[in-house]
Amino acid sequence: MFLPATTTPYSPVMKKKTRPKFRTASSQRWIDEHENDEFVQLSRKLGYRSRARFKLEEIDGKDSLIRPGMRVVDLGAAPGGWSEYAVEKVGRRGAVIALDILPMKPIPGVVDIEADFTENESLLALKEVLGDDSGVDLVLSDMAPNISGVSVSDQARSMYLAELALDFCNQHLRPGGVFLAKVFQGTGFDQYLAELKQQFDSVVSRKPKASRARSREMYLLAKGYRRTDT
Ligand code: SAM
Repeated sequence: MFLPATTTPYSPVMKKKTRPKFRTASSQRWIDEHENDEFVQLSRKLGYRSRARFKLEEIDGKDSLIRPGMRVVDLGAAPGGWSEYAVEKVGRRGAVIALDILPMKPIPGVVDIEADFTENESLLALKEVLGDDSGVDLVLSDMAPNISGVSVSDQARSMYLAELALDFCNQHLRPGGVFLAKVFQGTGFDQYLAELKQQFDSVVSRKPKASRARSREMYLLAKGYRRTDT
């Protein structure tokens, strides 16, 4: 009987045989690097959702971002490493609201919104969850677009997500609140840093050990939000 390729039942043996044909040298290099990464191995061992968790843990360890009772919004949360860590730290009196365009396996105590942050619906969904008392203590953004390989447009798309996260702070962060954002060094970075400096009492950059050295990714930590009525 003829079965079209899409209905061929899954077989690990077949998968093993056919996979290498579709891998480019650079994708194979990425897989090897990922598998050998000490943070990937440690996160598996500890049962964490992602190696990204170590980045937030390190920044929090140094800068004491998350305290019991806080209300935290985690943008670009999937698969959930940051939310998992944040919910442990805020405890029962606190709240963590996670948003991602991708589905995420539920985390007890975390309100999860599956939505595209570039769409207005995501803001409406967040507003609904936050309710009238919308003061947020801490906004985290680890959002990163899918990399296309065209560096100009990848940089523009990542800066756009960072700008939207800052707009969200302008609507929901309480005065004195904290914002941690992933940003890639390149076009738009300096302007973004200047914007943060205008709106927060202090801004520092952080490059945690789990952030790969060759990546232009870094984290900007802005403390002491000053509400400006724009
Ligand atoms: N902090 C996460 C953790 O600890 O597991 C890892 C986040 S991962 C580096 C970046 C995330 O940004 C991805 O899950 C991706 O789906 C999300 N993302 C990218 N574009 C988005 C968008 N437009 N709206 C919502 N999430 C987005």
